[in-house]
Amino acid sequence: MGRRPLWRRVGSLPRVTYFKPAGIPLAHLQEVRLSIEEAEAIRLKDIEGLEQDNCAQKMKVSRPTFARILLSARRRIADALLNGKAIRIEGGNYEMAVRRFRCSHGHEWEVPFEEMIKQPPELCPTCGTSDIMVLRPWRSDWGMGGQGRRFRGR
Ligand SMILES: [Zn+2]
Repeated sequence: MGRRPLWRRVGSLPRVTYFKPAGIPLAHLQEVRLSIEEAEAIRLKDIEGLEQDNCAQKMKVSRPTFARILLSARRRIADALLNGKAIRIEGGNYEMAVRRFRCSHGHEWEVPFEEMIKQPPELCPTCGTSDIMVLRPWRSDWGMGGQGRRFRGR
């Protein structure tokens, strides 16, 4: 073991994680892998339209690092689109920006950090009680302050 992995803050996970071009037999299908943080870079810059400085802050990386992640993401997507390859979105080193909640009946759930800032949850989504609390981090895979959940890809 040596250097610490660089965790990139991710605010949202893509709902669909596999894209496949039409009309290519599986045996001939090549695959491009897009990491979760590459997908997040595309989301922040190209979908939300944020400035690079702002994107870098949100992902907790330097601006050059963000630029590198974004460039790599665009290259992979371009490769897939123009060369007819499938895209699989998975893996990477990222920290999910979520907060975990628990209600008095023991139900637990997670709320994306950005969503929580806009509108903190008031009711348990399972039983509807308003008797809810924020959980403190109790596992080593939780980020400092319990604001993130960390994932390490392959
Ligand atoms: Zn509940």
